Amino acid sequence: MSETKILLSEREIPSQWYNIMADMPTLPRPPLHPATKQPVGPDDLSVIFPMSLIEQEVSAERWISIPDEVREIYTLWRPAPLYRAKRLEAALRTPARIYYKYEGVSPAGSHKPNTAVPQAYYNKKAGIRRIATETGAGQWGSSMALAGTMFGLEVTVYMVRVSYNQKPYRRIAMETWGATVHPSPSTVTNSGRKALEADPGNPGSLGLAISEAVEDAATRQDTNYALGSVLNHVLLHQTVIGLEAKEQLKLVGDYPDIVIGCCGGGSNFGGISFPFLYDKFHGKEVRAIAVEPLSCPTLTKGEFRYDFGDTAGLTPFLMMYTLGHDFMPPGIHAGGLRYHGDSSLVSQLYHDGIIEARAYGQTAVFEAAVAFAKAEGIIPAPESSHAIRAAMDEALLCREEGKEKCILFNLSGHGYLDLAAYSDYLSGKLVDYAYPEERIKESLAKLPVI
Ligand SMILES: *Cc1c(COP(=O)(O)O)cnc(C)c1O
Repeated sequence: MSETKILLSEREIPSQWYNIMADMPTLPRPPLHPATKQPVGPDDLSVIFPMSLIEQEVSAERWISIPDEVREIYTLWRPAPLYRAKRLEAALRTPARIYYKYEGVSPAGSHKPNTAVPQAYYNKKAGIRRIATETGAGQWGSSMALAGTMFGLEVTVYMVRVSYNQKPYRRIAMETWGATVHPSPSTVTNSGRKALEADPGNPGSLGLAISEAVEDAATRQDTNYALGSVLNHVLLHQTVIGLEAKEQLKLVGDYPDIVIGCCGGGSNFGGISFPFLYDKFHGKEVRAIAVEPLSCPTLTKGEFRYDFGDTAGLTPFLMMYTLGHDFMPPGIHAGGLRYHGDSSLVSQLYHDGIIEARAYGQTAVFEAAVAFAKAEGIIPAPESSHAIRAAMDEALLCREEGKEKCILFNLSGHGYLDLAAYSDYLSGKLVDYAYPEERIKESLAKLPVI
């Protein structure tokens, strides 16, 4: 009988992250200072980030060493298991081989601690005492709270209000790990107060919460900011996912035709796919598909241009696919996929035709999530279920065409703190939002021309 779980030993946790900037045919255009429209320098960024992370952000080194202190904490859940989805394959009657890398085994239940831990480590080393950050559905905030407690850093989290109300359990997890949590928009920052004045019922957005956390960090000496996705160093840290998956597939003599990840800001997709894109740059044939929600279709419907990373316009201009920084997506349950933009790295790769993207509505996504849970047991995060939908569709296409492809997807997290969303789906209350074409058009029309 072939293995269901393909496991590595702790010694086989990667010792280096893979930096895709060493191999990309076109590097993304640099972040620009909003006032001067000139590339931002290390000094601009050092107000909110430690120099070690700024160096990683612009590094041209292909391999970057993972500090021993970080690898030691990684041993709490890494290497993450790679599963062969035998029961899902059988349920779909597909000749395809489906594998999934399961990142839900981390203490926070998602891939996000893979970067929260090194970010806490480098900040601590730089003498920082406190981290301010934002969270959408709560996965990033809880990952940062976890990493903060491991290194003795104070953590303050601005949590998108719609999730703060829908998902109290993650707030409680953050507080258990010692963090302070404010619903965003909050009354403790200027950006938050301004948003509440304009609309007291503002449900919040990731972009707005970023504004609050950046403002907090920029106005305090002892405080830095930490971002859970989008930036180059975040995607770098997440490459442990794909590096491990490659070794695990090697153990069973397999290699993916298609690598799939859901895409909010791009970190878990980059994490699983970049080590395989390394092979693609060196002649191997492999497809990578980023999957997003139809109600926040950044890659598939956005424009490739400079935009702010946040709603209030406090961050540098980032070159990326965007729906416009003040686009407020509908309150879908995959809160982690409600960001208006995407990582510059993922955006550039998509623009250059190196990766693919597709979008799904949330009922199709939950249908896939439930089919997966029934076959494989694990109840997946709503975000991850976008990747499951795409993997299932590819496997069904294999059945139609009689092809035996190898499909790898990232199960970026579990859904045990998202059961309210399943309750809505099971009771028929989950709705598909139409693609908000007009609102996206309005938001894009307001963008500055650079
Ligand atoms: C945050 C999150 C995502 C989306 O973020 P990316 O940076 O695009 O990976 C996806 N899945 C889970 C489980 C998450 O917590």
